[in-house]
Amino acid sequence: MEVRCMLCGKKEDVTQEHPKWDEVRGKTKVVTYICLNCTAKVRYEANEGQKLPKPM
Ligand SMILES: [Zn+2]
Repeated sequence: MEVRCMLCGKKEDVTQEHPKWDEVRGKTKVVTYICLNCTAKVRYEANEGQKLPKPM
């Protein structure tokens, strides 16, 4: 299935070997897909946000 990352817009072909297959299987359209790169980035930024106080 071809999906498009909602963050960077990159298109990916998610197959059964893809780590995100569970998120798209059985769906006809995936609107909230986030690619592996952006998942790692978001996760990293979330960790950083927990370490540092939020800038006001
Ligand atoms: Zn992305």
